[in-house]
Amino acid sequence: MRFDIFTLFPEVFHPYIDVSIIGRARKSGALEVHLHNIRDWATDKHRTVDDEPYGGGGGMVMKAEPIFAAVESVLGRPPQAPVILLTPQGRPFSQKVARELAELPRVALLCGRYEGIDERVRQHLVTDEISIGDYVLTGGELAALVVLDAVTRLLPNVLGDPDAPDKDSHATGLLEHPHYTRPAVFRGWEVPPVLLSGDHGKIARWRREQSLLRTLHRRPDLLAKAQLTEEDRAFLRKLLSEDGEALPSED
Ligand code: SAM
Repeated sequence: MRFDIFTLFPEVFHPYIDVSIIGRARKSGALEVHLHNIRDWATDKHRTVDDEPYGGGGGMVMKAEPIFAAVESVLGRPPQAPVILLTPQGRPFSQKVARELAELPRVALLCGRYEGIDERVRQHLVTDEISIGDYVLTGGELAALVVLDAVTRLLPNVLGDPDAPDKDSHATGLLEHPHYTRPAVFRGWEVPPVLLSGDHGKIARWRREQSLLRTLHRRPDLLAKAQLTEEDRAFLRKLLSEDGEALPSED
């Protein structure tokens, strides 16, 4: 899959995209990341990319011309791939949206700065808008990295365990069960004995129940939409039926 990222600060991406899973995905060819500095398409001698807002008020606004020129020179006119604007006003990013994007061969990510971009970019160039949460960042670069990271781990041949994304939190609408590794006892805290039992059926059931319990405690809102079996429902009913009794704790 190919990402074209349009930004005023391409240098901030490298430390992250050069290492670990993303770095390996780029080396193997599963992922291509092309960084484009919007300033390279500014036409005046000061390479201006922003200007004061019409109507007054503080802050600066990213100009339309260099953004159109950058995107159209890389992706064609009209652009031959979705152009996604990172913005706190966009549709909320989620694992579902990451899966949707991972199906595409190519996407462009447009990172805003300052007060944001000239509205005509959004109206006439952008095809999708994504927010990574209800807070405001200084720029779209971190948001673009979040999207890039979440999508990359869903691409074929990127993770060592290809089934891992199907077991992760939010894949089936539940939070994932807790994990433990050696040693079996650390500072007197023991790993749950079932995980050392070698009984794969029991381990799978314990993990599923932990996942349900954890979701019930932390994100009960997720349960309404989660894919639940009859056994899951019975477990949840049992947890909830102890009239007035507190739910079992996670620990
Ligand atoms: N004035 C804008 C508003 O209130 O909607 C916010 C501008 S913000 C300071 C600058 C840039 O950061 C935005 O253009 C966008 O690209 C990026 N950004 C900020 N928060 C974001 C979020 N939650 N999700 C995605 N991008 C975000």
